[in-house]
Amino acid sequence: MSKPVWESLVGQEHAIGVLRSAALAAAAIVARAEEPRERGADGPVQVAHSLSAAMTHAWLFTGPPGSGRSVAARALAAALQCDRNVGPPAEPELAGCGVCPACHTVLAGTHPDVRAVIPEGLSISVKEIRMWITTAARRPSLGRWQVIIIEDADRLTEGASNALLKAIEEPPERTVFLLCAPSTHPDDVSVTIRSRCRLVALRTPSVDAVAAHLRESGASADDAAWVAAAAQGHIGRARRLLRDSDARDRRDSVLSIPSSLRSMAACFAAADQLVGAAKRDAAVLSAELDSGEVDALRQALGAGGTGKGTAAATRGMAGQVKDLEKRQKSRATRVERDALDRALVDLAWFYRDALLYRTGSSVALVHPDRRDDVIATALAMSPAQILKCIDAILACQLAVEQNVKPQIAVEAMAAALRLPA
Ligand SMILES: [Zn+2]
Repeated sequence: MSKPVWESLVGQEHAIGVLRSAALAAAAIVARAEEPRERGADGPVQVAHSLSAAMTHAWLFTGPPGSGRSVAARALAAALQCDRNVGPPAEPELAGCGVCPACHTVLAGTHPDVRAVIPEGLSISVKEIRMWITTAARRPSLGRWQVIIIEDADRLTEGASNALLKAIEEPPERTVFLLCAPSTHPDDVSVTIRSRCRLVALRTPSVDAVAAHLRESGASADDAAWVAAAAQGHIGRARRLLRDSDARDRRDSVLSIPSSLRSMAACFAAADQLVGAAKRDAAVLSAELDSGEVDALRQALGAGGTGKGTAAATRGMAGQVKDLEKRQKSRATRVERDALDRALVDLAWFYRDALLYRTGSSVALVHPDRRDDVIATALAMSPAQILKCIDAILACQLAVEQNVKPQIAVEAMAAALRLPA
């Protein structure tokens, strides 16, 4: 049996409330527009101001990785088109029912009035965005809303961003833009675009909410409990730990580091291991992402053609390929830092577990499956020493963020984590 579209948003009750109100208001707006035709001039439906104010033409979904930004955008799109969300006023429980044909087709990506902008390369070009804006300006074919979902709004080029801004500033009456980005930082979404959007900030869901969700999708209670704890609210990370043995192995090797740090040599070896593992992870992921991108760009630019204008296209192409390679390189650096950061976060939680154990706290462990290691480390140090370890890890994260060479930052950290003799 299908469930309301909101149920896939784990631990986001506040956002669900906002989005559901918007969907109901949208239904009232549609009803109001149709009313005079049906009932004549008298008695247009009065839509309470607060109700119509709940709906707007541009939305920006932000939140930490794994919080479900694009899931939220799709849920709102489905609720806007939902066959059961008809006003005025619609039944709150029915907006986004998840079972009607409209909900189904939106979630399956086949609804004629809901389109997702998927970048072809690393960025969304002005040409792509103009094409989408033209589509968005058409009347919705099923009479409700034209919805454009831009899942990676942080990948809009400056030109694309400006073109989109114009459309958002003067939106066609029945057009809704749903943008998703990691944060509201100006590097992700321009300040002017952000200021024209209603912001939906998704939170990191609680460990319990993630565990319950995983159990509902078939995981055993034990597995759901430890991966939800270890992932600390990142649903994607929790799912990866459930099904990807490489991810579990990498985590295990990170968490075996603290009890191995008995000599300076062991500290340097641990640093090499951490930095090396992040590099390897990044290389694998980047190779997957990079492959085909340059070829796709060459194809898109018409490489290999012999017709008129080919020479000019080839000259322009060299610059664009160079630009693409530059972006791939900066992405590789980012992926490597993310992988290292992931390991540092796991380590910091390990010492936090040790500190809780050492101080006799009954708070649940983040790494319950590594309980023996946690206890061994906790007993080898005083609470003050454990706190110093946590400080060293946080200092390392900060240093890497501030562009200190990872090798140097991680070696300094590993030396500070060395177990007392
Ligand atoms: Zn529905």
